[in-house]
Amino acid sequence: MFLKRLEIMGFKSFADRIGIDFVPGVTAVVGPNGSGKSNVTDAIRWVLGEQSAKSLRGAKMEDVIFGGSDSRKALNFAEVTLILDNTDGRVPLDYSEISVTRRVFRSGESAYLLNKQNCRLKDITDLFMDSGLGKEAFSIISQGRVDQILNSKAEERRSIFEEAAGVLKYKQRKRKAELK
Ligand code: ATP
Ligand code: MG
Repeated sequence: MFLKRLEIMGFKSFADRIGIDFVPGVTAVVGPNGSGKSNVTDAIRWVLGEQSAKSLRGAKMEDVIFGGSDSRKALNFAEVTLILDNTDGRVPLDYSEISVTRRVFRSGESAYLLNKQNCRLKDITDLFMDSGLGKEAFSIISQGRVDQILNSKAEERRSIFEEAAGVLKYKQRKRKAELK
């Protein structure tokens, strides 16, 4: 499984629709301060269901929508699509390519799509939970996170290993069953 393409429109500093094609191996995103490098990883985190505006470096979720610049008006919605190559079948869905889309409007309306079909956030979370590609997973390690992992308490560190080992899904199901 690998990230094949990312399409961003109206998300943070990306007012125009842009597409980034990735190839297997290492890709480095370079650019001056404030040019939007971190906004690219924010877009990946967001499309995978991130709900915390703070962890996307904003105050409210609306802040992910392009807010305008000297030469451009603000936009009314943001949309990100992530396309994964799934030829190895790591994601348990019978497609060799999987697309995930998230859209949000200033009015607060929002949508998630899996292979262009409307779905719930839960469908996306469940699908990626054990693939190593959830929003909590370690496919994205942000600035400061390495220190945080090294300095965390034993219990917190255990939950990191549990997620990586794929047992988190069962723990969450157990917790849900106990609540019923
Ligand atoms: P650094 O090298 O300092 O880490 P960076 O390349 O990671 O920089 P980002 O943090 O990705 O830069 O981008 C910051 C830019 O994105 C700022 O100029 C900010 O104004 C812009 N930005 C963030 N949210 C929005 C928004 N909603 N609308 C328009 N621009 C935005
Ligand atoms: Mg940055």
